[in-house]
Amino acid sequence: MKIIADMHTHTLASGHAYSTINELARAAAEVGLRGLAITDHGPGLPGGPHRFHFCAMRFVPRTIAGVRIFRGVEANILDDQGRLDLEPDVLEQLDFVMAGLHEDCGFCGQDIERNTRAILAAMENPRVKCISHPGNVVFPARYEEIVMGALATQTALEINNSSLMSVSRKGSNANCAEIAALCARIGAPVMIGSDAHICQGVGVFEDALKLLAEAGMPEGQVINASWQRLLDFLGIEEE
Ligand SMILES: [Zn+2]
Ligand SMILES: [Zn+2]
Repeated sequence: MKIIADMHTHTLASGHAYSTINELARAAAEVGLRGLAITDHGPGLPGGPHRFHFCAMRFVPRTIAGVRIFRGVEANILDDQGRLDLEPDVLEQLDFVMAGLHEDCGFCGQDIERNTRAILAAMENPRVKCISHPGNVVFPARYEEIVMGALATQTALEINNSSLMSVSRKGSNANCAEIAALCARIGAPVMIGSDAHICQGVGVFEDALKLLAEAGMPEGQVINASWQRLLDFLGIEEE
């Protein structure tokens, strides 16, 4: 299995990341990726960009250094109704909306029922194509329900490489393995993301690929293992 696009990366705009879009794109080209999603945090995360940042992504070229750029966001799920921190008209302008639960955004992660409801509700939003790091140990959820929801709404669950490297969300490996095994059994779509916060991290997928292999994940369920499958999933027609 070869991952052809990194669908989760952050630029300087996130407030706690260290590269530009151009640097990420050149890094993606160097490691042989065909596509790159720029998914800066939504405005709800402390230090995150204003919503104008996302409106202005129309100025970002479709291709940089030969790499197709997907204009995206990693939006914050704010409550158990699945409300996000970007308005629908802004989400509409982006190629790829990922949503996830984060600390310090006003959502308390102590309650497994509330976490589950929040993720399920976000997946009902047709603009949301992926849930970022659903295995986050800080926000435990009922994973079988989440995976069933992912299948029903055709929302990918991310296997986040950074969660597995103990650089972020330390202690999440068992949850990620459980989610991968459930996705493989139930047939729900998954995406792999590096969650790079600096250009050197683009395209680093080894731990996530190992986890998927251990889970016996069919390649056909991994959205960003095929260019055409990815475009179809995002509803994008090749220019
Ligand atoms: Zn995140
Ligand atoms: Zn992220």
